[in-house]
Amino acid sequence: MRRFTLALLAFFAPVLASAQMPVSPETRATVAHIIGDVMVNGQAYEYDRQLADTIGPRLTGSDNYVHAVAWAQQQFKSLGLANVHTEPFTLKSAWEPETAATGRIVTPRVQNLHIYSLGWSPSTADGGIKGNVVYLQHLTNEGIDAQKDKLAGNIVLIDRDSIGESPAFSQILQALDHLNKLAPKALLLVGGPNGSESATALTFDGSIFRCPTAEVGAEDTSLIRRMLDHVPVSVEFSFKNRIRQDVEVNNVVAEIPGRDLPNEVVIIAGHLDSWHPATGAQDNGTGASTVIEAARAIKASGRAPRRTMRFILFGGEEQGILGSTAYVNNHRADLPSIDCVLISDTGAQPAKGWYLMGRDDEMDALKNVEPLLAGLGSNDTTPSTEFLFQTDHISFDLLGVPTLVLWNDTDKYFKLHHKASDSFDAINQADLNQGAATTIATAYAIADSAQPFAPHQTPTQVEEWLKKAKQWDDYQFFKNAGVFP
Ligand SMILES: [Zn+2]
Repeated sequence: MRRFTLALLAFFAPVLASAQMPVSPETRATVAHIIGDVMVNGQAYEYDRQLADTIGPRLTGSDNYVHAVAWAQQQFKSLGLANVHTEPFTLKSAWEPETAATGRIVTPRVQNLHIYSLGWSPSTADGGIKGNVVYLQHLTNEGIDAQKDKLAGNIVLIDRDSIGESPAFSQILQALDHLNKLAPKALLLVGGPNGSESATALTFDGSIFRCPTAEVGAEDTSLIRRMLDHVPVSVEFSFKNRIRQDVEVNNVVAEIPGRDLPNEVVIIAGHLDSWHPATGAQDNGTGASTVIEAARAIKASGRAPRRTMRFILFGGEEQGILGSTAYVNNHRADLPSIDCVLISDTGAQPAKGWYLMGRDDEMDALKNVEPLLAGLGSNDTTPSTEFLFQTDHISFDLLGVPTLVLWNDTDKYFKLHHKASDSFDAINQADLNQGAATTIATAYAIADSAQPFAPHQTPTQVEEWLKKAKQWDDYQFFKNAGVFP
């Protein structure tokens, strides 16, 4: 028995070893050169400064977003990249705040509220909205039915207690849909601490939500709840948003053709759009600047990798991963030629390595690449699926294309995430360079390897993978809503 097992192991050993992607001495030498160049001459910090400070907030479909697309194309062209172009998709609605929101408690006494329009909310009617507040106990279909008569036609307040312990996002959206059938006048959603806007939206396809929805400071929300325990509460608020239908939005694409295998492609990508309260220096200025820095550093190395490097900046990520979804839908026939997609969208604290989203075969494939990253301290991988439906890799994963998502600490990330503090002064140049060097070194080693990275998954494997990650129900919901490929 033992001998038989050993014989089997010996038989499989070469197969297991071949799942590890080889790294040649020439690859290693070029990666060493590139890492040195990025750490010493790196431009990611300057690219991020221009995106954040010069161009500013980049809401998908906004004038600033259009400027960012033109700027990115100009960067790629000036670096001498090939095939620099844009690829359009249609955003159902472009949305921008036109006036700052104002609001106050009217009864039982007057007090101003810390209030903002939620993203992709309609404007309030002229003169604002005024009405009684009803606290929603449970944001579930049953909870809504239990308070049915009180909710209809009133202003519905929803906080963390209403939402409960981490329900699936699809459950929240389904419950909101149920609530909308009662035609509430407006929704008030708890936000961050008073005075700290935390931009988000309640739609996932770039459409406008059904009723005006405001974010209210956490302390203000608690105050209203305490008042409601004793007396009726009414509020009034107003904001105006600029909304345009069916707006063309562009992804930006550029390439360095492969030395030996130009028809095989490794993609480095991140989203170019951001939210409006700040300048998106972190989310996702760091990722977008990493993509352009990768183009610069690989071009400057003078040694194109064996496979083509494609650099993509996506729009509409914040509204539902729209740009990358449009990309994979428009390139279905080309997907088999994509060896790997590397995404940067988790800020710029020092990178630890890569999120593998539960794909063990990718861990094997990276074994020989990790020593290249040891000196950067980023030679680790995590099977965590924490970011599974959070950014642009998912569009590719769902169609079986292997992806890697840069893995950084995110404690600082979530303090800045979608807030007014997501500004360039929060960016550390050395950390940004380290993450960029990690991304570029990994991508180059994959693109220059004598062997492909990891196998594409079949639809059955994708289904098993999503079920294992307990994300199958969410996926079905979004797919049925026409959001994901
Ligand atoms: Zn992001």
